[in-house]
Amino acid sequence: MITTQRKIWLSSPHMGGQEQKYVEEAFSTNWVATLGPNVDGFEASITSYLKEGVHVAAVSSGTSAIHLALIVLGVGKGDDVLCQSLTFSASANPIVYQGANPIFIDSEEQTWNLSPELLENAIVDRIKNHKKPKAIVAVHLYGMPYDALAINQVARKYDIPVIEDSAEALGSEYLGIKCGTLGDLSILSFNGNKIITTSGGGALITKTKAQKDAAVKLATQSRDQAVHYQHSQIGYNYRMSNVVAGIGRGQMEVLEDRVQQRRANYNYYFEQLGDFQELNFLSEPEGVYSNRWLTAIRTDSYQTRERIRLALAKEDIESRPLWKPMHMQPVFKDCKAYVNGFSESLFDTGLCLPSGSNLSEEELERTTNLIKNTLLR
Ligand SMILES: *Cc1c(COP(=O)(O)O)cnc(C)c1O
Repeated sequence: MITTQRKIWLSSPHMGGQEQKYVEEAFSTNWVATLGPNVDGFEASITSYLKEGVHVAAVSSGTSAIHLALIVLGVGKGDDVLCQSLTFSASANPIVYQGANPIFIDSEEQTWNLSPELLENAIVDRIKNHKKPKAIVAVHLYGMPYDALAINQVARKYDIPVIEDSAEALGSEYLGIKCGTLGDLSILSFNGNKIITTSGGGALITKTKAQKDAAVKLATQSRDQAVHYQHSQIGYNYRMSNVVAGIGRGQMEVLEDRVQQRRANYNYYFEQLGDFQELNFLSEPEGVYSNRWLTAIRTDSYQTRERIRLALAKEDIESRPLWKPMHMQPVFKDCKAYVNGFSESLFDTGLCLPSGSNLSEEELERTTNLIKNTLLR
């Protein structure tokens, strides 16, 4: 007899139940536009969740939020921007949209994120070359907060603003402070694979109302105050739709629950697989709380990683190598990079395991049993 088992995804959308109510409201009130009560309501719920007196602009994607952050900071043609190398390409692409040059920085072992030492070395080296970087893009990979105290200290010392890419880290905390408020400007993503989703969407988080207003203006084609259409700068069509924002309002109501479920996934994997010598789990440094968006492990070799990945794939279970570092990407091959070999080794040996908040106990068990059997074989 053939039994058909459901495919196990790495991270799939998980609706809470209230989303359709808000979407229905958008339809029944005819607010089917890039502004309206859902956009306002979604921004308000993110603002009250993050605290720290931030201002939130809902936009069409995390990528567009990073682009807006760079423009708000005045990054332009020929400028240098330092960027974490181990990340998704969306952290770096908007630097190039601005005609600026990304310079990639490797990671440190404790969080897998931007190395503060390497960051400072790079800044010192660039200043020696008479070109001070315009901004720093730091990323909380897989939900694990970067060492914000050390990174901010370096950034302050050289007076360079930090763009906090918190696309993967809504719900994570660093010393009790929510990720998304740790940079000079911060961004969130609500893409379909993130901890909460609007199908596609993002947010820019600013510390001043003036910065938010500037970003919203840029995101709505840079219209000047006038009854006719007048523009004094180039604009973008980056605002979030009021329909999509309705999904976001419903998702914010279940965010805490999603964080708990993702953390439970990590704990389950750790309990079941933590004793295997071949595997290495990323634990939380003191004072750090990760949303565990994805459970990512290091294995002892490329061969072990591939054995596990292929065994899972054969059973229709999705897993994936860690991000390929930007300094190894063909598209960025001519960019400068300050590397220490760590992100390359993570790319070689690391694996993201199925981590959705909608995984059943049985699916987690199936996955861990397969990994156990593969390692014991
Ligand atoms: C998802 C993601 C982004 C981009 O967000 P989109 O909403 O998909 O544009 C940026 N940075 C990181 C680290 C991400 O994981």
